[in-house]
Amino acid sequence: MTDQEFKKPSGTRDIFDREGDYFQKIEDTSRRIAGEYNFKTIRTPILEEKRLFVRSVGERTDIVQKEMYELTTKGGDELVLRPEGTAPIVRSYIENDLYKKPQPVKFYYFGPFFRYERPQKGRYRQFHQFGLEILGKKSPALDGQLILIFWKIFKSLQIETSVKINNLGCEGCRREYVEDLKKALKPHKESLCKNCKERFDKNTLRILDCKEEKCREVIETMPQIVDYLCKACKKNFKRVLEFLNKMELPYELDPFLVRGLDYYNNTTFEFFAEGWGFALGGGGRYDGLVEALGGRKTPACGGAVGVERTVEVMKDKNIEVKNKPKKVFLAQLGDSAKKKAFELFEEFRKEGIPVYESMGRDSLKSQMSRADKLGAEYTLILGRQECIKNQIIIREMKSGKQETVSLDEVVEEIKKRI
Ligand code: AMP
Repeated sequence: MTDQEFKKPSGTRDIFDREGDYFQKIEDTSRRIAGEYNFKTIRTPILEEKRLFVRSVGERTDIVQKEMYELTTKGGDELVLRPEGTAPIVRSYIENDLYKKPQPVKFYYFGPFFRYERPQKGRYRQFHQFGLEILGKKSPALDGQLILIFWKIFKSLQIETSVKINNLGCEGCRREYVEDLKKALKPHKESLCKNCKERFDKNTLRILDCKEEKCREVIETMPQIVDYLCKACKKNFKRVLEFLNKMELPYELDPFLVRGLDYYNNTTFEFFAEGWGFALGGGGRYDGLVEALGGRKTPACGGAVGVERTVEVMKDKNIEVKNKPKKVFLAQLGDSAKKKAFELFEEFRKEGIPVYESMGRDSLKSQMSRADKLGAEYTLILGRQECIKNQIIIREMKSGKQETVSLDEVVEEIKKRI
């Protein structure tokens, strides 16, 4: 590296070349699939009021307590660089009266987010997420559809994922569960990590999210929230799982999956790729959030995928993302064929199909060897006989298979194959 004066801030990255290709592939794939499910794009500001995240993500979460990039404007407004995508979309839903539209409203987004975390592999201070949100309707099929779409996106990117799923219940079941959890954790309090000791009184549920080995050992022995679900929550959970079964989507129940944000209730889920310790993405239902931010009572669910982590997995698996266009070579033999070849070349150009040629060469052998060197998938051969019959030969270079088609149809025929 050169000894240069300016460097990018710690935990941020320049994304270009191969990395850029992976980003583009993930963005294109996720936008395409979200569009197929009638999600519409939304872009909210990078800057939002700090209060928005304090109220939604939660005052006692790591994101709000330690990780937000905060600034005070010259006018005295307290703003932050958005640490996540759901709260801004809920803000936008309320501010733009989107409850007046036919419900549910379905949005997708793709963009940068900011968390002041300790940078390491798979963890950055500026990272990107692709997210989906469904607001205005409650149905287990919507939770299921959300999971299905993320799963399909990964599949389309050639990543096999498994889904971990849990149900956090409604406020009622959760209250009862947290009381019992606290009682069960109390005798183990001293063996928990420093963070969990601090979480014990006011943020008990978050202890279940701790990744420290000694805490995990305690957590495994704790009561499970599924045993505390009320009748309605149980029924809802069963129906989400039935949907996933019907879609033949592999999942695993994880009774301790709580996620790092406060606003979730009922379904929560996370995606994992085999052999990778960190989640590629996750989400869940947040039926209380619209109301908590000043809107009317509105059921909603959503989730987000980390783009950098998805790139890591794709790179590790050597997944090819550059769709190299197939090359076509045009060879000619004889004066009249050369003349026709020039015209045909123009026809291809007009259709936006790049065609390679070597008009300066006369022998077919040298033209074919040129086509070979270029790595052409197809060579079109226009000889004297073909010229007379208004035909042309399409040679598939790999197999050596040849077929003769009419000159008038060759452009369409090649279009189908490349
Ligand atoms: P969350 O918004 O915390 O639910 O995170 C959703 C996904 O975003 C995670 O599963 C990660 O893939 C990704 N993510 C979250 N934080 C970071 C980070 N600091 N760096 C890179 N990716 C992240």
